[in-house]
Amino acid sequence: LILLTAFNFYGVWYGRPTRQAVAQQPPKAKIRIGISLGTLKEERWVHDRDIMVAKAKEAGAEVYVQNANNDDTDQVDQVKYLIGKGIKVLILVPNDMKKAAEIVSMAHKAGVKVISYDRLVLDAGVDLYLSFDNEEVGRLMAKALLAARPTGNYVILNGAPNDDNSLQIKAGYDSVLGPSEKNGKIKILAEYFTPNWLEELAFRKMDGVLQKNRDVQAVLAGDDSLAGAAIEALSEYRLAGKVEVVGQDADLAACRRLVQGTQLMTVYKPIDKLASLAIKMAMKLARGEPLGIQDKMSDGTYQVPYQFITPIAVERSNLDATVLKDGYQNRDDVYQ
Ligand code: BGC
Repeated sequence: LILLTAFNFYGVWYGRPTRQAVAQQPPKAKIRIGISLGTLKEERWVHDRDIMVAKAKEAGAEVYVQNANNDDTDQVDQVKYLIGKGIKVLILVPNDMKKAAEIVSMAHKAGVKVISYDRLVLDAGVDLYLSFDNEEVGRLMAKALLAARPTGNYVILNGAPNDDNSLQIKAGYDSVLGPSEKNGKIKILAEYFTPNWLEELAFRKMDGVLQKNRDVQAVLAGDDSLAGAAIEALSEYRLAGKVEVVGQDADLAACRRLVQGTQLMTVYKPIDKLASLAIKMAMKLARGEPLGIQDKMSDGTYQVPYQFITPIAVERSNLDATVLKDGYQNRDDVYQ
């Protein structure tokens, strides 16, 4: 009886959490998010990374970031490491649209949800694909060039052949340039896909074209770093500012070129919107909440939930009202 009483005595006192005991309970484990970047070479990815890290912390998550530097094998190893860290969600910017399917299946086997960020992983059935409307990026590039140079010789320096965005951009510019090409108003002298989006390769290609034929009116470049490479090559032939060049990303150097008049247009993609959306969705995936996304896109095999943000064409005339107004670039840096 004494023992029983004592048990009850202790049972009551130790079984019921006192105020103090509640305060001492270990905090609920934070949701862990992994971010695997294909590259940090272009300026925009630094914005993506910084905004995602800040937003994840605001949301109370722990975040781990890896950068594969355009190396597919490293990207696999880095995601293994992230999975080992106990991440619930992987935000993946694939270096290679096909090879990254292995990463997705590895994550899924470990119970980790995957968001394909900016670039789509093909045939992989990611849980969500978030990007800008990349076909629209291509259409905007082509429309700007046709408006400035409705006739003449065009050169296309597209992005990496293993980046699905390059293919989407091509679908976009093809749809706009097609009719002018068919009726002979424009001629495409060269169409090149630039491995790893490497400036050196785009420079060499542009230089090669100009060695044979300087009668070029327009250059459509896959992004602003390739546009910069094209403009460098053009300047060696004293053609910078005479040939219309377009790119994308609203990189600082490109915004400066808009002001200087060596680049006609850049496609501005508000990175903060994409990065914030990715973290919001990552938290929902981690908690098993519905995403509320209706749109689907085929990755070749699966229909994956898809949400896109509309890109904006920026020329010198609307630089202030867009990129500078949003604070994406600093006015003093652009007009130095
Ligand atoms: C992105 C571009 C970027 C390029 C090179 C593409 O997938 O959409 O914004 O410039 O990759 O990293």
